[in-house]
Amino acid sequence: MSDYQKIIPIANQILKKHELCDNCLGRLFSKKLHLSSNKLLGKKLKKNRTSTKCYICKNLFENLNHFLKIMFDVSSDYCFQTFSVGAIIKPSIVERDDCIRSQYKLRGIDSIKTDITKELAKAFSKKTKHIVDYRNPEFTFTMNFKDESCQIHSKSITLSGRYIKSMRGLSQKQKSCENCSGKGCRICNFHGISEFDSIEGMISQFIFDKLGGTTAKFTWIGGEDKPSLVLGNGRPFFVKLQHPHKRKLRLTSKIFNSLKITNLKIVPDSPKKPLKFISSINMRISTESKIDVSNLKKLKDLIKSPVVVYDVSGKRSEKKIFTVKYKKTSQNEFSLFLKADGGLPLKRFVNGDNVTPSISSIIGNLCKCQEFDFLDIHV
Ligand SMILES: [Zn+2]
Ligand SMILES: [Zn+2]
Repeated sequence: MSDYQKIIPIANQILKKHELCDNCLGRLFSKKLHLSSNKLLGKKLKKNRTSTKCYICKNLFENLNHFLKIMFDVSSDYCFQTFSVGAIIKPSIVERDDCIRSQYKLRGIDSIKTDITKELAKAFSKKTKHIVDYRNPEFTFTMNFKDESCQIHSKSITLSGRYIKSMRGLSQKQKSCENCSGKGCRICNFHGISEFDSIEGMISQFIFDKLGGTTAKFTWIGGEDKPSLVLGNGRPFFVKLQHPHKRKLRLTSKIFNSLKITNLKIVPDSPKKPLKFISSINMRISTESKIDVSNLKKLKDLIKSPVVVYDVSGKRSEKKIFTVKYKKTSQNEFSLFLKADGGLPLKRFVNGDNVTPSISSIIGNLCKCQEFDFLDIHV
């Protein structure tokens, strides 16, 4: 006796007690017979029997097109290639499904939830040519069959780029929206920021314009003060954009008045560990007493051993200095060019606040950093 013949009496037994739709009946046996279409199997098992209302699903499968239309509507503003479908189903349906399964000892079969999401995904894929992907989908639908709503989620994307700041007076970071402290709310259009007058704000606005999305979270490769310039190839950054509408970027650069964004591209992820980088820095330093050039010469020794930095928590780190050049510009002022490990706290390095050695200690003259600019940053 074939597997198919074996299940006929069980199917008949169930049908005698309950009306089932083709999908639900077929689902109870398709795995065992290694068949892919529940509907066709159900139809075959039912022969000419018709059903008016399915005992398990109350004819949920007849309404697939209605739910499919909801999926089209909620996703029409999004571009994506891969997607998955989840579902929230009335507990009563799940209970009746479980009840039939245990009563007839049907093991290893798909749940009704699995089946309905499979059917929806298949139909959506057929119409849109998007690819079903349950492991790492770009876009996720969660169809709520209780109230016929559909939740959507668009997977975040990460971008990398560099910025060049050619005018003083622009902050690197943007203050969070006061209403939500950056989480995103109606007032800030779910961006977490409501003003766009910093480097972070300008880059964010550009990305929101091009790709949509809610919040943009930045990972900066170092930072500078509001009055500092960032020249050369610019400072690298990474930004993670939540809930993007688009996932492809055509423009790779953008020039605002005093800010240029370059090398913008979509990347797999932000760096997991802090990136090592080397900065070329120009500083303008003023001194308390008159400068003695013979003391300035001692600055050349900085390349011999690393500078030790203690942060507020007491954590110790070492920063190497690779190049030192200086020039006395007046009795109480000199300029200093350094090539150094990224993350050296420049103002503290000059005045000697928990950094040893410091410029002040080396030249034996209390120094103050008046201005510092980044000429280039190498990763
Ligand atoms: Zn059914
Ligand atoms: Zn807000």
